[in-house]
Amino acid sequence: MTRHVAIVGGGWAGLACGVELAAAGVRTCLFEAARQLGGRARRVDVHGHALDNGQHILIGAYRETLRLMNQAGADPARVLRRLPLELNYPGSAFCLRLPRIPAPLNLVIGLMTAKGCTAGEKIAAAKFMRSLQTRKYRLAEDISVAELLDQQHQTGSLRRFMWEPLCLAALNTPPEKASAQVFANVLRDSLGGERSDTDLLLPNADLNAVFPDAAARFISGHGGTIRLSERVEHIEQPLHIAGEAFDDIVIATAPQHAIVLLQDHPQTAAIARMLGDYRYEPIGTVYLGYPAGVRLPLPMLGMDVGSPDRLGQWVFDRGQLGDAEGVMGCVLSAAGTWNERDSDALAATLHAELQETLERPLPQPLWHQVIRERRATFSCRPGLPRPKSRTLLRGLWLAGDYVCADYPATLEGAIRSGVAAARAILGRN
Ligand SMILES: Cc1cc2nc3c(=O)[nH]c(=O)nc-3n(C[C@H](O)[C@H](O)[C@H](O)COP(=O)(O)OP(=O)(O)OC[C@H]3O[C@@H](n4cnc5c(N)ncnc54)[C@H](O)[C@@H]3O)c2cc1C
Repeated sequence: MTRHVAIVGGGWAGLACGVELAAAGVRTCLFEAARQLGGRARRVDVHGHALDNGQHILIGAYRETLRLMNQAGADPARVLRRLPLELNYPGSAFCLRLPRIPAPLNLVIGLMTAKGCTAGEKIAAAKFMRSLQTRKYRLAEDISVAELLDQQHQTGSLRRFMWEPLCLAALNTPPEKASAQVFANVLRDSLGGERSDTDLLLPNADLNAVFPDAAARFISGHGGTIRLSERVEHIEQPLHIAGEAFDDIVIATAPQHAIVLLQDHPQTAAIARMLGDYRYEPIGTVYLGYPAGVRLPLPMLGMDVGSPDRLGQWVFDRGQLGDAEGVMGCVLSAAGTWNERDSDALAATLHAELQETLERPLPQPLWHQVIRERRATFSCRPGLPRPKSRTLLRGLWLAGDYVCADYPATLEGAIRSGVAAARAILGRN
């Protein structure tokens, strides 16, 4: 008889686990509390447009994500737009673009031809990458990203417009609080990897079309079941959910939701306590709906103009990334004063900042929508303990972005954790 595995949570981690198990012929039953799949990376319908709960950026180094997308039948070439890494801030003098030449020359040439920073900063940045590479990206102790950048003499524009925004984008944690080791891991796989690893992969469609829809079809097509609007309240021993027996159960929720399911069992209570100490960072997305015809010079621009009170970090032109013409998505990462403002005030500020960034007046937005994800990601601090996918309760496994210890809370971390849990169940790791 084949094994029957329950997966609790239909975010990218749970779906990745389901796809990997389905491909191996295992029957799965996926429980999702919400009415839709995708979790923290999902489609949201706004003013007649298929947008997202927050703009997501993938990079070429997301190898497991790309592999599973292909496996599930979502064609990365169709739903993702591959662009060379470009950090372009029109409101400041800074611009860095990596040319399409083999690594590491792409980084060397990209740094040397960057605008708006000094020759000394460029040389220091190249030395920083070299020193990380020499240490195989392993730090003697985990410190904050800000401390690492200080130690490595990273100052001026390159720090402000490259290292710090890369830290915020990848770890969603301010450099003063973010883990330098996890940042180094991300640099190892991106700037320290092959040229294609450094590419930006911007979704060309809503997030459900990037992976969750195809994953759900794949799981169902292989005999699995997807149960939407079914919250798992409790896991019983021997392994049962609401009276139904399973050989294995994978908890693939966000950490704060996993606590509830783990704390009742003596074998997993210690993990629940560990997760109870986690802190979280928000992400805000401000969609501004301009008349069709309003476009950015590039699909993605940096909004920093060098002034300290700027709220907007990045803006994405959803007309160039899909079919929402005139819709701009402004991203506000990690905790900050933006979260205290009401939505109308926030939208008015972002509209003003966007005009400053573009150095031209824009028509008044026809509508705006602010989406606040208060617990967008765990706060990726130095030395943060991370659980493994295997628990002491036989047959109970964990998946979720927080389980992939090498990575911050990202789609790739979520996918890798789901694959790891599936492989552990299959006895393949
Ligand atoms: C606004 C925003 C922007 C982001 N930007 C990026 C980015 O640019 N690049 C990047 O790589 N990552 C980004 N991330 C992070 C990324 O979205 C997450 O790391 C990833 O989606 C987490 O997936 P997950 O499957 O681990 O968890 P989740 O997405 O949280 O999925 C867990 C699922 O479990 C369900 N659930 C919870 N409890 C139960 C229960 N008891 N029973 C049944 N179901 C339950 C939930 O409803 C949810 O669907 C961003 C996140 C946000 C919020």
